[in-house]
Amino acid sequence: MSTLFTKIINKEIPADIVYEDDICLAFRDINPQAPVHLLIIPKKEIVSIDTLTDDDKDILGHIMVTTAKIAKQEGLDENGYRVVTNIGVNGGQSVFHLHFHLLGGRKLTWPPG
Ligand code: AMP
Repeated sequence: MSTLFTKIINKEIPADIVYEDDICLAFRDINPQAPVHLLIIPKKEIVSIDTLTDDDKDILGHIMVTTAKIAKQEGLDENGYRVVTNIGVNGGQSVFHLHFHLLGGRKLTWPPG
């Protein structure tokens, strides 16, 4: 089922897009939890990593490599950053289109709540 992220991919609703190619899109989170808070999503409608299939290996590899490039672009590589994906209700997922949060620009605490 489509979510609002499909509308962002299709440019039906606005987003602050920082990177786009055929496979993925990266945009700024509307409710940032750190000075830099981006979401990196596949253009393919995938619910979460829990629903990945073997066919998605290339997409996921591409997203991880791209995430690291975007982190560098944002100047996060020197001091470090966090990449996290929430899965399902207990994982805290609220949008059911796979997305990786890229968080940085401050010292992040651990463990998460
Ligand atoms: P999660 O809770 O892991 O599913 O993350 C969903 C994220 O999407 C949250 O951090 C929201 O702030 C973010 N979000 C929801 N709607 C939008 C939007 N229209 N543009 C950008 N980020 C959004």
